[in-house]
Amino acid sequence: MSAALSHSLPVRPRGACPTLPEPMPTGDGLLARIALAAPAKPAQFAALAGLAARHGNGIVEVTARGKLQVRGLTEASAAPFARDVGALDLALREGLEIQINPLAGLAPMHFDPRPIADAIAEAVATAGLGPRLAPKLAVVVDGGGAPDLSALSADIRLAPAPDAAKREVLVSAAMAPLGLVPLERAVEAVLLLLGLLAARGRRARMAALVEQEGTAPLLAALDRVMTALPQPAASAEGRPEAVGLHVLEDGRVALGIGLPFGHGEARSLVALAQEAEKSGGSAIMPAAGRTLLLIGVAENAAPVLRSMSAALGFIVDADDPLRHVDACPGMPSCASAHIETRALAATLALLAGGRRVHVSGCAKGCAHPAGADLTIVGLDGGAGLVVEGGPRDAPAEIVPVDRLAAAARSLLEKQGV
Ligand code: SF4
Repeated sequence: MSAALSHSLPVRPRGACPTLPEPMPTGDGLLARIALAAPAKPAQFAALAGLAARHGNGIVEVTARGKLQVRGLTEASAAPFARDVGALDLALREGLEIQINPLAGLAPMHFDPRPIADAIAEAVATAGLGPRLAPKLAVVVDGGGAPDLSALSADIRLAPAPDAAKREVLVSAAMAPLGLVPLERAVEAVLLLLGLLAARGRRARMAALVEQEGTAPLLAALDRVMTALPQPAASAEGRPEAVGLHVLEDGRVALGIGLPFGHGEARSLVALAQEAEKSGGSAIMPAAGRTLLLIGVAENAAPVLRSMSAALGFIVDADDPLRHVDACPGMPSCASAHIETRALAATLALLAGGRRVHVSGCAKGCAHPAGADLTIVGLDGGAGLVVEGGPRDAPAEIVPVDRLAAAARSLLEKQGV
């Protein structure tokens, strides 16, 4: 590793989205984020985990939006890591965040989201729109089918129309349904909305636009492509979340497993990839909700793979208590954290009884920016307990850190938040 290479590494400032070539400083070194555009082969996935151990601190995370994060890189190791990842020949998605169903092309869907996502990405690049859009802007192209993507937030969402025979998609802006457009004009509809956002500046996000201006400008922009007023999208009922078994069109299955708090260790992930391959698995894909899909497993091998996954520390039950708690890395992994988070969250998961609990190292709330039944937030000189709110809401109680665990347990046990 030459000094020149080390110093040429562009490091993103705190608060911006980290990427593979531009990692972000955190409390435990540099963090690189990787978005897979298509499933990785088990050997590729194992090699990626191996690189995380060699160049970073061996911690690999899957984010709530299904991206991989490698932690503990250094100024010296980040560029070689990026180079070695490049040599794995993974399909990586760069630029505008466009999310599709992780089993697209493999499991039954109302429509195939892949060509639409590719066409949007290509059109954005051709039009030079990318640099004019907010860095965290997200488009979801949900073709229907499992796992359910309806909980994934998006600035612009395409979802199946109620009547699949008509080959239309429902276009939504943030949470506001706008109307139906023909499938073949879905890309055009997304570009019209992106153009409208770009015209309002690089910080423009759809939720703020709808709040400030309503949907009138969006409907006007879509006028030439829209065929019908808003209708509910095809129901997500019956579309299970990612953790569990998903039957593929070829009769094999995909086994969805969860990572507690999205956190994985390289050696466990290497072992998982090897077990998946032994079970006939052909690919691994990160998915929303801090999960991994082990794809192409023979149905009769799935129970053993499920047991092996559990033994490696992964979540194999959709109703596991750890699926109801969120916690960011906290101290010491994040320099902004005021408290340790995950040990407390794991303890509270057993008391939560299905209620949503969020433990956040600071008010930024990276793990779950929305509200929860109980949010515990690290503050200067203590921690806040927020009932039915988020990390930036007023706490019902502020306690010293050494009384935090007892106070949180007491709140869950006695007050039944
Ligand atoms: S919420 Fe957690 S991970 Fe995010 S900046 Fe605060 S302490 Fe760090």
